[in-house]
Amino acid sequence: MHRNTFIQSNKALYPTLELKSNKNILFAGQITGVEGYSASASTGILAGINAWLKITGKNPIIPPKETMSGALVNYITSKEGELQPMNPVFGLLPEINTTKKYKKLLKAYRAIFSMDNWIKQHEIF
Ligand SMILES: Cc1cc2nc3c(=O)[nH]c(=O)nc-3n(C[C@H](O)[C@H](O)[C@H](O)COP(=O)(O)OP(=O)(O)OC[C@H]3O[C@@H](n4cnc5c(N)ncnc54)[C@H](O)[C@@H]3O)c2cc1C
Repeated sequence: MHRNTFIQSNKALYPTLELKSNKNILFAGQITGVEGYSASASTGILAGINAWLKITGKNPIIPPKETMSGALVNYITSKEGELQPMNPVFGLLPEINTTKKYKKLLKAYRAIFSMDNWIKQHEIF
């Protein structure tokens, strides 16, 4: 068992990972209230992209909620009440109207297409 040190991102951060009280500061990693290697890396990538966008005079961006990156950022920045660390889990993704058997598979495909569109839309890479 381990204990994370984390901020209440639901009160302190925008979904762009900018600090509400000083938008020149961005947070990433488990200090934002995400948990685990991939979630920490994903918020690090987003914070890095947004720092670069801000420096080059562009607006910071937010991944779609249908992607796990977007769902996590949405969760940590909008959770009501006390925030506790959150892993990437299928339950964070918006519901999809299908049988239980295919739900996770369809959510995964939707996330891949959604991320692909988002990347193309913003010409990030
Ligand atoms: C025992 C253990 C097992 C784990 N197992 C898993 C697992 O199996 N799978 C999984 O997905 N996750 C696991 N985790 C969680 C995972 O390690 C973390 O979620 C992840 O490493 C967080 O990454 P991070 O970059 O946000 O933070 P960190 O990896 O904690 O990096 C923060 C860095 O900031 C540095 N730092 C702190 N303060 C300062 C300062 N004032 N100035 C400069 N530098 C500073 C620290 O030295 C550290 O290098 C485990 C965690 C622990 C403790």
